[in-house]
Amino acid sequence: MATGSRPPSARRRRWASPVRLFLAVAAAAVAVADAVAAAPRPTAADKATPTTPTPPRAGPDESPPWSYNNAAGWPASCRNSSQSPMPLIHVGGTGNPHRGEVADLLSLPSALHFTAHAADAEHISLLCDGSCGTLTVRGVAYKVKNLHWHTPAEHTVDGRRTAAELHAVSFAADGRIAVLASLFKDTKDNPIVQATIDAMVGLGTFEATLQDYRKYFYSGGHVGCGIYAGSLTTPPCTEGLTWVVSTKVGYMSEAQVEAIRALNGGHDNARPLQPINDRPVDWIDPEASGGR
Ligand SMILES: [Zn+2]
Repeated sequence: MATGSRPPSARRRRWASPVRLFLAVAAAAVAVADAVAAAPRPTAADKATPTTPTPPRAGPDESPPWSYNNAAGWPASCRNSSQSPMPLIHVGGTGNPHRGEVADLLSLPSALHFTAHAADAEHISLLCDGSCGTLTVRGVAYKVKNLHWHTPAEHTVDGRRTAAELHAVSFAADGRIAVLASLFKDTKDNPIVQATIDAMVGLGTFEATLQDYRKYFYSGGHVGCGIYAGSLTTPPCTEGLTWVVSTKVGYMSEAQVEAIRALNGGHDNARPLQPINDRPVDWIDPEASGGR
């Protein structure tokens, strides 16, 4: 996942202070990647400041700029021992999977409403309007508040990296964060993915029914997942997050991958894989013989 990353200082200086104020709140609601393409778009200042809870992030003037191609610019906290993304080994991995599926963890309303917000000129997230469901992991309920994309995928499963990864960032009442990560390959058009792109392009709204969400984000079937303890995947790389990575891969077209990539600065926004450091992964599998 990404917190709102900070643009180069030269870019920041161009922005008026109301925009900076917006950034302090909206950027933290977790964003996506870098530099919006040259085409003009509505600005962050066009939208009201969201009230979504925000993950921790570096202060506006406390750390040097970072980028995906400048590892040295990432703070020391990003070198701690439980970082994300990490490679997930499903087939032949350790531990017995429990029988179940992501749907067991996710309670969704019949309709979901999000509005695209540009945390800055390089990051766009879809922030929940109203109720967008609850992710319950190990007895803790997390409210889904923010959707954003990474291209290519940040997590790998059994060594395979897909074309894109959707993060649904969710917050518990005490501020803890869980992220539901869904993986997508580039094969054919996905109408719900397109709806998120359209919302991001115009900083408009994204709406989906529960059926849409299941069909197009989870391929309509029974979907397993791997659960592990990790971190934000952008500075300040705060640890203590719970990751739920789905094992069934969705789809979108190559053009849709490119559209998302363009909205995220026209470059990759996937952090390299981080050391596992003996962290266990709890697998939940629809086909597993083990109990829940
Ligand atoms: Zn993310």
